[in-house]
Amino acid sequence: MGYPVDHPLLITVPSVVNELKSSEASMRFDIAREDGARVEMPQPYMVDEVISVAKQTRDIDELSVTDIDILAKALEYKDDSTLLTDDYAVQNVAVMLGIDVKPVVQKKIRDILVWEKQCVGCRKRFDEGDVCPICGSALKKRRKRKVVFV
Ligand SMILES: [Zn+2]
Repeated sequence: MGYPVDHPLLITVPSVVNELKSSEASMRFDIAREDGARVEMPQPYMVDEVISVAKQTRDIDELSVTDIDILAKALEYKDDSTLLTDDYAVQNVAVMLGIDVKPVVQKKIRDILVWEKQCVGCRKRFDEGDVCPICGSALKKRRKRKVVFV
């Protein structure tokens, strides 16, 4: 939202429409819809592919059902569309899926973020797992690669 409503063609998913909270955002969307914006259900097999990639990048915990629906829809149109999002996890998974991403407000991330786990007890780092194999404390997710802005 906040993007020009004369954007070539705006496509979104039903869960986004349900999430529009502010009356301004909702009004902008109504105008966009009169301008030819479409609301489409995502394809189930596209949803499956998004979930599988999000698990690989370990972004799955950060994604809402709406995020996954949007990614699935963007994947369907990936050859000639741009996904507008300011959500880092959504951007990250989109880049992995080969979807062109543009931020609405923030700057775009250039690097793929890779997550790792760090022990809350001994601070040792691991690729995965929930419990530290050394001291038995819980492992917490953290960013492994630094975010680079363009
Ligand atoms: Zn530990």
